[in-house]
Amino acid sequence: ADLYKIDGWGAPYFSVNASGNVSVRPFGASTLPHQEIDLMKVVKKSSDPKSVGGLGLPLPLIVRLPDVLRHRLESLNSAFEFAVQSHGYGSWYQGVYPVKCNQDRFIVEDIVRFGLPFRFGLEAGSKPELLLAMSCLAKGHPDAFLVCNGYKDEEYVALALMARSLDLNTVIVLEQEEELDVVIGNSRRLGVRPVIGLRAKLRTKHSGHFGSTSGEKGKFGLNTAQILNVARKLQAVDMLDCLQLLHFHIGSQIPSTSLLADGVGEAAQIYCELARLGANMRVIDIGGGLGIDYDGSHSGESDMSIGYNLDEYAATVVQAVQYACDRRGVRHPILCSESGRALVSHHSVLIFEAKSSTSFEPSGPGSVGANLAYSLDELADDARADYRNLMAAAVRGEYETCCLYIDQLKRRCVDLFKDGLLGLEHLAAVDALCDIVAKEIGASRPVRTYHVNLSLFTSIPDYWAIEQLFPVMPIHRLDQRPGVDGVLSDLTCDSDGKMNKFIGGATSLPLHEMSGGGGGGGGYYLGMFLGGAYQEALGGMHNLFGGPSVVRVSHSEGPHGFAVTGAAPGPSCADVLRAMQHEPEIMFELLKRRAEDYEAGDGVVCGLAHAFHSMPYLVSAVAEDAVCGVDGGAVL
Ligand code: PLP
Repeated sequence: ADLYKIDGWGAPYFSVNASGNVSVRPFGASTLPHQEIDLMKVVKKSSDPKSVGGLGLPLPLIVRLPDVLRHRLESLNSAFEFAVQSHGYGSWYQGVYPVKCNQDRFIVEDIVRFGLPFRFGLEAGSKPELLLAMSCLAKGHPDAFLVCNGYKDEEYVALALMARSLDLNTVIVLEQEEELDVVIGNSRRLGVRPVIGLRAKLRTKHSGHFGSTSGEKGKFGLNTAQILNVARKLQAVDMLDCLQLLHFHIGSQIPSTSLLADGVGEAAQIYCELARLGANMRVIDIGGGLGIDYDGSHSGESDMSIGYNLDEYAATVVQAVQYACDRRGVRHPILCSESGRALVSHHSVLIFEAKSSTSFEPSGPGSVGANLAYSLDELADDARADYRNLMAAAVRGEYETCCLYIDQLKRRCVDLFKDGLLGLEHLAAVDALCDIVAKEIGASRPVRTYHVNLSLFTSIPDYWAIEQLFPVMPIHRLDQRPGVDGVLSDLTCDSDGKMNKFIGGATSLPLHEMSGGGGGGGGYYLGMFLGGAYQEALGGMHNLFGGPSVVRVSHSEGPHGFAVTGAAPGPSCADVLRAMQHEPEIMFELLKRRAEDYEAGDGVVCGLAHAFHSMPYLVSAVAEDAVCGVDGGAVL
């Protein structure tokens, strides 16, 4: 387990159990041993149609853990509750979940439900997000905020005002100065008095990747002059009392409390100034930024790590606001945060299967020994000299010299091959020989490629797009020392569909030999952790791999210690085709007619119907009755 640093990034939710499997502690540190959920048992139950009650869902699989989500939400609220109490702060914390982090219906509904005791609300950044937030919050706490961020047109503003007329505690946050006229116009037209917030463009700059839009030249928010213009304009139309909230967001994954204190302190001054100018200020909304320690180092020295915990985060916010307000004699505001990443990252685990791995063993016709004899004859003089020098260095055990000659010999042979002077068998034999010598002298622990049933572009897009690293590790066999170093290669036909950077700066992952020598058959399961935020909504359709199956798994006192409370397979081939404007029904009819014209037989028609119906990912061999039991037309 140490190899994967699970105690660093996984605590208090993930650990390795006595069976050598990753287990989930659904209630964090207060989880009792018998309440732990063994992830391998979840995989078995979800994917194996032969296991008792097995669901037969194909992998990859997202395991959602609502208990973990609840625990995150409660921990965030109790951290603020504690900070408010211990600092004698004169108001309270009342957060919102930014639905952009993961708009999945069940996640948003869970958050609203779990958040009822805390008046927890939602944040939306677009019209569809606002619609979903409105309908979910209809079952939320009446005081929960509905924060409307993002660029707004007339329709967005009108919808937000309608939300207020439905008695949802809606705040329209001005992202640009021009939005004010739209808000004033629509509020008059609809006869709804708005609650207005404004997003300040702070001078405080977050220097990491996620802070590239912060600072004076940042993309979002109002600068000092624009803030003043908004206040004056509202006063002129007798609506300054509508301005009640100040918002800022300096970027996700804030690395340190010192940067946080800087940002909150600056915003608190703006808040106090707005109060001085006569606005009816009540809330300071500190945006997102509460980070996740992806690499488990707790150092805060890179985008992958943060140097604080929830309690320290909350204490920093409370102190910074309290300090500014006390000095200016301003009433303490309600503290709101839009923490998304910190809320949902832990609650979902992506599980995928290695189907095969590349082998060290020389392959191809005949053994290396047999091929080498004639290989030598074919080699040019200088390559033959490299070969002899390599062997002599190997006998003397000279590591550095061996590496040198391996490089040289390989390069020379590739040049010969490119010139058409060396056959494929000879090139393969030289490669195999070099690998064997390298392995014998310990020059390299060769890195194998594990072919995994996954699309990085669909399931871990930030890895590809912004080089974000997530913890990845096998979820079983952790009582055995892994004997191989591997990189992961996904199913897409794209060279970027490869994972060869891992947390802690490693370029390979310690992995176990696959049973059966890695040639195929799968059965080796890995998990990607902390990916519950952003990945699902950002994920694309490269090669038309639709999306993983999903199961919801909650703690239960039954024999397994868990219950599957929801399950859905990922999109079928027909579904993903439809998403790109193809019409599977028409495609099927066309191919069916062609099959009839060519008298291809019923088996082909059944097979075609099954193909539209099936998952784009690799599935285990299809049972005969599963194919022919399908009624071609009906499945589509
Ligand atoms: N609020 C706003 C305005 C954002 O742009 C974001 C995301 O970048 C968030 C909240 C969520 O941030 P985080 O996931 O860091 O909590």
